Amino acid sequence: MWIDTHCHLDAHEFGDESVAQAALARQQGVGMIVIPAVETANFPVVAQLAAGVDNGCYALGIHPIYVPQAAEDDLRVLREQVAAAMADDRFVAIGEIGLDFFIPMLTEPAMREKQVFFFREQLKIARDFELPVLMHVRRSQDVVLKHARQIRPAGGIAHAFNGSFQQAQGYIELGFKLGFGGAMTFTRALQIRRMAAELPLDAIVLETDAPDISPSWIHPGRNSPDQIPRIGQVLAELRGLSLAEVAAATTANARAALPRMVRFGEN
Ligand SMILES: [Zn+2]
Repeated sequence: MWIDTHCHLDAHEFGDESVAQAALARQQGVGMIVIPAVETANFPVVAQLAAGVDNGCYALGIHPIYVPQAAEDDLRVLREQVAAAMADDRFVAIGEIGLDFFIPMLTEPAMREKQVFFFREQLKIARDFELPVLMHVRRSQDVVLKHARQIRPAGGIAHAFNGSFQQAQGYIELGFKLGFGGAMTFTRALQIRRMAAELPLDAIVLETDAPDISPSWIHPGRNSPDQIPRIGQVLAELRGLSLAEVAAATTANARAALPRMVRFGEN
């Protein structure tokens, strides 16, 4: 069995195919797909989508790219909906949250400050409910690590990891796993491939970030969660392991990062 630890299955790129995509992934052995929210407006959408497929679970959070249009009251809404979702087996984490210092509009001083405020407040919600976080980290590795060290949520995943060994070590010390996906499938991605090959296996989880970050054999087409086994094959080749070893290890790691998922999807 495989787990896709990060998939925007509700994205408009999937049109009315979201449920069919989950079923297709399940046929390929993807027993669980983690669907992160991006803004309060799609909280009910990800919850309903996760409930409507055999292999779905979800996270609630405000994505840094949605911070410009977010209001402070959205944090109250998040806290309330998290409290309610604690009764839902399919709810597994706070996410997607983080800091994006790549997109120019998000790097202006006032917007950097607003991003940091939303990130910290959401880390506090995760800490208060003892929930893991799914983190978006773009040109912001050390700043994300600084705030995570101060607030200390219950671990989680640094998604689409693209940092250094030292930064990887920082996440691992905080109890985080590192998400690897389509970027690792490009032979020119030397740094990411070296990380995937050399980091401790128990720190690695697989993800598609579908419909984005398509692997080399689809690029630039739409990514989908059924690609996880083939992405796992790339990791197996990079590490000199069998496909079964990579499936077992990354599945165990995902369950360790998202403990609420253990009670669910036993197959
Ligand atoms: Zn994402």
